[in-house]
Amino acid sequence: MSQSSDLFKKSSQIIPGGVNSPVRAFKSVGSKPFFVKAARGSRVIDADGKEYVDYVGSWGPMILGHAHPEVVEAICRAAERGTSYGAPTETEFEMAKAITEAIPSIEMVRMVSSGTEAVMSAVRLARAFTGKNAILKFAGCYHGHADSFLSGSAGSGLATFGIPASPGVPSALAELTMTVPYNDLEAVRATIREYKDILACAVIEPVAGNMGVVLPKEGFLAQLREITAKNGILLVFDEVITGFRLHYGGYQDLAGIKPDLTCLGKIIGGGLPVGAFGGRRDIMKMLAPSGPVYQAGTLSGNPLAMSAGLATLNVLKREDGYRKLEEKTVLLCNEMGLIFREKGVQVKINRAGSMFTPFFGPGPGEIQDYDCAKLSDTGLFSRFFGGMLKNGVSLPPSQFEASFVSFAHSNQDFELTAGACRKAVSAISKRR
Ligand code: PLP
Repeated sequence: MSQSSDLFKKSSQIIPGGVNSPVRAFKSVGSKPFFVKAARGSRVIDADGKEYVDYVGSWGPMILGHAHPEVVEAICRAAERGTSYGAPTETEFEMAKAITEAIPSIEMVRMVSSGTEAVMSAVRLARAFTGKNAILKFAGCYHGHADSFLSGSAGSGLATFGIPASPGVPSALAELTMTVPYNDLEAVRATIREYKDILACAVIEPVAGNMGVVLPKEGFLAQLREITAKNGILLVFDEVITGFRLHYGGYQDLAGIKPDLTCLGKIIGGGLPVGAFGGRRDIMKMLAPSGPVYQAGTLSGNPLAMSAGLATLNVLKREDGYRKLEEKTVLLCNEMGLIFREKGVQVKINRAGSMFTPFFGPGPGEIQDYDCAKLSDTGLFSRFFGGMLKNGVSLPPSQFEASFVSFAHSNQDFELTAGACRKAVSAISKRR
């Protein structure tokens, strides 16, 4: 038995499903996970010593690659000064300064310890500020596992009161969350027309990463901004993935849109647990202790997380490597696209900057919402995933996730990836 299989078996006895976050269990690709022993640059090494080119990147944070020397040094230095104080520090101020300078819509910011916490807190604030309780979200977007976001809709089109998407979510809360299809302005308009008096905010991933990569249609976010502003509904951008991923700042700067509140996470923690939410001063000032809205955290603004995040932001700002990162990703996607075409496997690759998803199967041309994404052939994806893994490439273990390219990925990594892709696709086409 391999070390990974043994560890998974033992872990499953005392950790539900053997993992501390569900998607890591490889269930949606019908296999079992490898356990990681170490990671460096673009590579991860499993418990059996096998090395993979890694496109998971810890689900987004590792834009510089794993164990970047400046990040590691910052963490070690911080640890020598103590790992947590429960008192404010200068690094928290520096982090707030870096974020507010990079993202103009964020006039004030509060640090938390996860993306879930960030969005959950932003929604509480939006409810308090507007005096309304309902929220609008978009099918296929993920905003963490807080109760309000584990709510689904019974149908598509005009959103109605949601239903719990997980046992344990009270229906009284799920009902307050309405869901419309991504990129569907008509559904947004109809829902807002009907429910503007109870809607506190609309929450959206400005580029979706959690149904696979799905881009906003031209003008969609701008219209959403206009409609929400006109109707007294706050607009919350969940940039937990896109913040500092597509350029130095938020996607909102590229799109030229100012949301009222923004949520961040992942990259700003350099691989340590982190989240942040911020926005308009008049809204943020409602937070305790300057205002009445309660929100708190023992490890919020943790000195190790702040140091790792600041070191990451410093490198990103200094190297200004986003254009190169995108160019690398374009080349990789083109190469993979060529291989799929050569072998006659129908795949549509969606890409934004350094994040991409190959959607498998005979779905319609453009994948612009969750309904389109769901038409993908997940069985075919699973076989592709398995083939890639066997040949030394680690992709996210689900059709509905984004792969991430980092500064550390090299031409050699891409050659290896193309080789693995060729073998994985040949194996798929033989079995069809
Ligand atoms: N928002 C988005 C867009 C995410 O992708 C995620 C996690 O992947 C979250 C929120 C939740 O963040 P966390 O897992 O840190 O709680």
